[in-house]
Amino acid sequence: MNRPQLSVVIPVYNEEAGLAALFARLYPALDQMELSYEVVFVNDGSRDRSAAILGEQFRARPDVTRVVLFNGNYGQHMAILAGFEQTRGEIVVTLDADLQNPPEEIPNLVDKIRAGHDYVGTIRRNRRDSWFRRNASRMMNRLRERITHIQMTDQGCMLRAYSRQIIDTINQCREINTFIPALAYTFAQNPVEIEVAHEERFAGESKYSLYSLIRLNFDLVTGFSVVPLQWLAAIGMGLSFVSAGLFVLLMVRRFVLGAEVQGVFTLFAITFFLLGVILFGIGILGEYIGRIYQQVRQRPRFLVQAILEDDAESAAREHPAGTLERHAAGRR
Ligand code: UDP
Ligand code: MG
Repeated sequence: MNRPQLSVVIPVYNEEAGLAALFARLYPALDQMELSYEVVFVNDGSRDRSAAILGEQFRARPDVTRVVLFNGNYGQHMAILAGFEQTRGEIVVTLDADLQNPPEEIPNLVDKIRAGHDYVGTIRRNRRDSWFRRNASRMMNRLRERITHIQMTDQGCMLRAYSRQIIDTINQCREINTFIPALAYTFAQNPVEIEVAHEERFAGESKYSLYSLIRLNFDLVTGFSVVPLQWLAAIGMGLSFVSAGLFVLLMVRRFVLGAEVQGVFTLFAITFFLLGVILFGIGILGEYIGRIYQQVRQRPRFLVQAILEDDAESAAREHPAGTLERHAAGRR
């Protein structure tokens, strides 16, 4: 089977209300581009009718549609990784299912890859999210950039394009809590960023609570940098110097002025502050240890329940005969 020129990977989690609108815009946009393409949907354990709707879409356009069905909810980034493993295109574009990233922008991304870039990042023009979300994410973006040295003006936008080589490299990674644009950026040789339009969510609600956004940002920082650990060491060192100075000062005072008992509450304040620093430090250590723990268990990162794909194509790879069928990929 020939490689399509373009693969589009879309993670789907409880998006039944918006999927029809997505199909209605995505497929015409791709058809207009006059290149061979495939769309890989990954159902991330939706509890609504999403899986069924994806199945219908697969039957409507089996030649260009493939659907990976997870047996549970593993998160957006795991879903995209599973999609990457199925892609065959020379260029791979990721897209959200909620139509916040207009599919009509895909040709602009493809043009950049054709111009020789291997990673096309995006910046959302007039971002349509809540005020709080916009400002919180701008702050995190800056902090993250200082810590990880990954240059992403807008880390949140998932409409991005990658070259085949980057996808192959990502497919070799076995990381568990990862952030795909950052992972891809670390492998990119010639990255570029372009502006894209951004729209309100077409239907349904954001799947990210404040807590999961905080988790995501922790993953971003601890997954791509050990700078927080180095900061801890630096803070520890600074504090040791200060307390050594204090010790000398108090010794001198003890012998010159005699013993003192005043300033007990100042001492409390200092102690509580230091306790805070210690707990914070342990917390950061915990973040890294947790990652190490998850990684050493070596469990499968996600379980694929079934893959819907056109048998004419998969037959060439594994099955000698048969019409449409489901086959479980099972444990990898
Ligand atoms: N998503 C997913 N698994 C999850 C959460 C989200 O596959 O556990 C998908 C979701 O269906 C959508 C994309 O990831 O296609 C982005 O999610 P959402 O629009 O809720 O995030 P936001 O735009 O608010 O950052
Ligand atoms: Mg969204």
